[in-house]
Amino acid sequence: MIQKLIRRIFNKKKPAGGKAAIIPSRKHGINRDHMSHCALNVCKELRARGFAVFVVGGAVRDLLLGKEPKDYDVATDATPEQVRDVFRRSRIIGRRFRIVHVMCGREIVEVTTFRGQAAPATGDDEEESEDQRTNDHGRLLRDNVFGSHFEDAARRDFTVNALYYDPDKQEVWDYLEGMQDLKQGVLRIIGDAETRYREDPVRMLRAVRLAAKLNFKLDPATKKPIRALEGLLRDVPKSRLFDEMLKLFHSGHALESAQRMREEGLHHGVLPLLDVILEQPMGKRFLTLALQSTDERVNADKPVSPAFLFASLMWHEVLTLWKKYQEEQDMRPLPAFGEAMEDVIQTQVDNLAIPRRYTAGMREIWSMQPRFLQRAGSRPFRLVENPKFRAGFDFLLLRCASGELDKEVGQWWERFQVASDREREQMLVKDEAPPRKRRRRKKPANARPAATGVED
Ligand code: ATP
Ligand code: MG
Repeated sequence: MIQKLIRRIFNKKKPAGGKAAIIPSRKHGINRDHMSHCALNVCKELRARGFAVFVVGGAVRDLLLGKEPKDYDVATDATPEQVRDVFRRSRIIGRRFRIVHVMCGREIVEVTTFRGQAAPATGDDEEESEDQRTNDHGRLLRDNVFGSHFEDAARRDFTVNALYYDPDKQEVWDYLEGMQDLKQGVLRIIGDAETRYREDPVRMLRAVRLAAKLNFKLDPATKKPIRALEGLLRDVPKSRLFDEMLKLFHSGHALESAQRMREEGLHHGVLPLLDVILEQPMGKRFLTLALQSTDERVNADKPVSPAFLFASLMWHEVLTLWKKYQEEQDMRPLPAFGEAMEDVIQTQVDNLAIPRRYTAGMREIWSMQPRFLQRAGSRPFRLVENPKFRAGFDFLLLRCASGELDKEVGQWWERFQVASDREREQMLVKDEAPPRKRRRRKKPANARPAATGVED
């Protein structure tokens, strides 16, 4: 009761006025010249037609922090149709939230019309179910009502994500004390945390990802309900979860994000295998190295492959099953490997709805691994010609670095790649047992096609 009352007072306090603090150029330090031309142009054109228009969200937050924004969002009082009519290269996307993508060369700026009906101010369940805006768990089903500028701010997720920049006047508009939180390095959800997480459980993942990216502290009230509400993530459409996880692991702060995700218990529904992996020293070391190298690549603007990332995340699960099938079911190593790989794909991948194009890449990377141990005869010559060799080899190096494999194996392949044919012949491991010739058994009807990619 008391809590509800406090919440009510707290929630009423901020939305009441709806007046923005306007911060002039000399105080906020954003330099318009460093901004995306595309975003500036969108603002200029809409403004010229009399619309209110601001850059908003992560771009303003990152510019204020001296970071380079990943993408630009623009908010305006023009309707999606009005926006589309202004820009030749633009299209309206989305059904629930209709937003406009404006394209300039390869850059896309997302333009949204001010949205209203932010978090219900009271958190009163009856009111919510009456207007059918939320489902039984409080998840937002409808969020497509246009609103005022202030309402648009209040329906955003965190105070530091609700700062608006007007490029024309070079002012920052702050309705929710986001500037103060930004200065203090605090990520604070707007409104009542539990209500906002129930409306959209992905906000919990965003909290963890943004706190890791910005190196911010989660405000205690923002953090508190996460552990209890973590199960709501199971309600979220899998494709959205996958996109969010991809963002998280490609943020340049994957390691930190994974750790924070685990601290908050958020991995249970998304990546339950994280617990098992991180409890084994070798698994922990492998994953740490994999995420560190992903972070390094992202931060050096090098491309990263989702297939490689998910192959790394699930590798130790494959290893565990591989061992189990050999020991408990007396399977031969290669069929056991194929089985392990397929089972991990089935269970873990379904959990996250990893698209098929990535699972194909994961299989390729994994199935090369046993072949790195075959260094006699013609096999290494064939392996090195594999178009995906580089990915498989990078993966092998991670295995060596984590202590799972002898470093010598990685070094051998490093040399083999650049050696001449003659040198390669000399490098072949003479005393390696030649592959056993096996009588071909008839395949059972449900046999999986060459799952390991290893010819034996
Ligand atoms: P980054 O782009 O650095 O990953 P971001 O904060 O810009 O972070 P986006 O996904 O680009 O994240 O979203 C842009 C803005 O839209 C956010 O800053 C926030 O204001 C709003 N937003 C995004 N997702 C949500 C959400 N689930 N609930 C409420 N507001 C959201
Ligand atoms: Mg963004």
